[in-house]
Amino acid sequence: MSEHCIFCDILNKKAPADIVYEDDLVIVFKDIRPQAPVHLLVVPHKHIRSINELADEDRNLVAHMIFVGKEQARQNNINKSGYNLLFNVESGGGQVIFHLHLHLIGGYVR
Ligand SMILES: [Zn+2]
Repeated sequence: MSEHCIFCDILNKKAPADIVYEDDLVIVFKDIRPQAPVHLLVVPHKHIRSINELADEDRNLVAHMIFVGKEQARQNNINKSGYNLLFNVESGGGQVIFHLHLHLIGGYVR
């Protein structure tokens, strides 16, 4: 990639983040501007701009992101109360960092 990417910096440990999980395919860290008591980002090691740029070979990666989100919801005790798993796509969809990521948002008291 030619553009500077803060998420790639975090993946390469060149920028700080509050990392809660990492495996061969993804990293999970806390959103720096949380919109709920639990607000985590599931970020693939592979730099993909957005959902629009997904290739057929990325199917298993995206499925893995969702399963990691599910497991993080359980570990944060919001699986029963409920949560959002959300992809923002491009600026009009609210995407701010153009490196694919899945938001896990929950923990509201209702
Ligand atoms: Zn990146």
